[in-house]
Amino acid sequence: MTEPHSPNAAPSAPTHILHDVFGYSAFRGAQAEIVDHVIKGGDALVLMPTGGGKSLCYQVPAIARHRREQGVALVVSPLIALMHDQVGALEEAGVHAAFLNSTLSLDDTQRIEREMMSGRLVLLYVAPERLTTPRMLAQLDSLHERGLFSLVAIDEAHCVSQWGHDFREDYLQLNLLHERYPDVPRIALTATADDLTRADIIERLQLQDARVFISSFDRPNIRYAVVEKDDARKQLLRFIQDDHEGDAGIVYCQSRKKVDETAAWLVTEGISALPYHAGLDADVRKKHQDRFLREESIVMVATIAFGMGIDKPDVRFVAHLDLPKNIEAYYQETGRAGRDGQPADAWMAYGLADVVNQRRMIDESPAAEEFKRGQRGKLDALLTLAEAHDCRRVRLLAYFGEESERCAAYQNACDNCLIPPATWDATEAARKALSCVYRFHQNGGQRYGAAHLIDVLRGKATDKVVQRGHETLSTFGIGADVSEAQWRVVLRQLIALGYLRTEGEYNTLELTASAREVLRGEVQMLLRQQSDAPKGKAKTGRVTRTARGGKDKPPPLPLDEQGLERFAALKAWRAEVASEHNLPAYVVFHDATLAEMAQAQPDSLDALAQIGGVGAKKLEAYGREILRVLEGA
Ligand code: ADP
Ligand code: ZN
Repeated sequence: MTEPHSPNAAPSAPTHILHDVFGYSAFRGAQAEIVDHVIKGGDALVLMPTGGGKSLCYQVPAIARHRREQGVALVVSPLIALMHDQVGALEEAGVHAAFLNSTLSLDDTQRIEREMMSGRLVLLYVAPERLTTPRMLAQLDSLHERGLFSLVAIDEAHCVSQWGHDFREDYLQLNLLHERYPDVPRIALTATADDLTRADIIERLQLQDARVFISSFDRPNIRYAVVEKDDARKQLLRFIQDDHEGDAGIVYCQSRKKVDETAAWLVTEGISALPYHAGLDADVRKKHQDRFLREESIVMVATIAFGMGIDKPDVRFVAHLDLPKNIEAYYQETGRAGRDGQPADAWMAYGLADVVNQRRMIDESPAAEEFKRGQRGKLDALLTLAEAHDCRRVRLLAYFGEESERCAAYQNACDNCLIPPATWDATEAARKALSCVYRFHQNGGQRYGAAHLIDVLRGKATDKVVQRGHETLSTFGIGADVSEAQWRVVLRQLIALGYLRTEGEYNTLELTASAREVLRGEVQMLLRQQSDAPKGKAKTGRVTRTARGGKDKPPPLPLDEQGLERFAALKAWRAEVASEHNLPAYVVFHDATLAEMAQAQPDSLDALAQIGGVGAKKLEAYGREILRVLEGA
């Protein structure tokens, strides 16, 4: 960390930096424009999906401005636990970076402050609460006076908004920077795309004059699939075993208890699973997060407390065992899969109980009615996505205001495009169900749950049916032709679409005002055909396997047998380097980079430099060793 300060040592053109420092051949999407704008001193708000490449949008300008003697860039990030690895990755690439947060010793803090004050540092990562301390502000004043405060990057900018679940009080103070140093360019970045959050960010960070860059939110390498919950745990296990043996993944559950139980169960099934939730001790959480980042095939079972800022590129799947809160949350959570651009899965198991629970949580919350209405609307959108029998990608993107074509032609098409599900016209069935609920109501005003309703519709004279005299209702047995499983789907859909509401401890069913539309036959309902798959068999498990042509984990590139051996040798070498440097393996090189090396077999440093992800510093540090590993393999 003590290289001499050498301005003008290297050219400051963005493409040169991209190539020389990061080893990449071209900017992606809007990156080039954003980078240019910020280097020139403009403010920017960047909305890009997770994995889109936000980091380069401020790192390249920081390096360019540093090379032009404009000093130190400040990166505000709420993710203290990840700063070490972020800085490690930059130092690996030969960029002088550091972080200041509460985990540092006094000695380290002072050393880093000296690096900052001398202008030698290129990037300094800080937690928001630290930024506004008198000490920090005095230091920034001094840097600023000497023209050595190059830019401010505000990562995870949605933390300034109270609309998301990531709100941080300290983010509200960040305005101060703008007021104090109006000439220092600012770039705010987030993967949260909805209008409310965006407006909040602009207002609270005073970014009214900033240029707004909105990228496409499509993640073409992610396959979206939703399966009917049958035996969710077993379905999950099958999904992991069939498609993701030995892969890193995240499994989201709603409650801490379910996280603990699911993780423990997966372990008994031979999967390296770890739990993560806010109820665990901080050091346990840190240990589990470190293992997830550093080891290759950990499955993290977690509540939504886990994940923000996790930039592990090779997460191969994100599975939801419970419904996420809304589409924004779903997209952010699933977006953590496949940042490296390689195929990845977003998988969700979903059933009637999920719908009922989520609705009840909203109904019973103490929030204002207006807020609840907003939440119900968001839940409806999510349920419609889950029940959809057409392209899920189109629906997701449409939700974010983006038009797209169905993903049939994608390498990783969604489940519905891959195998279009058969549908059946449930319009009549829906009417029968609602009129049966209506008859219950007429017949003594009592309400009943889904199981009883299905019994009556199917004409099953159970004790309860007979006791209540329901075998005499005109609706008794009118739905015998529809299977029990199909009835559950019909009811789920009716609840999801808001024609039926569940009430109280027993989730009894009640008509809503809009049920009338269905009863009058004004609403056509086309439902996904239930497969008659035997219990415990996840549909998409089989689908994915055939589509990928085998159970083996696909390497990032097609490699022959010797190529695979070289790939394995490179990975073994990388593991040693990573553990020596106390960094995750992907910080040294991504899998895709190693695979390209294994395939191309470069036999000189020049040839090696052509591989994507090999920058000048890494070439110098590791080039010879890599050539030796390749020769020996
Ligand atoms: P985000 O912060 O938007 O989620 P990252 O900045 O972590 O995304 O980038 C995601 C991945 O894409 C990283 O592994 C990064 O190295 C890679 N990447 C970003 N930009 C490029 C590019 N222009 N060429 C090649 N890889 C890139
Ligand atoms: Zn699709």
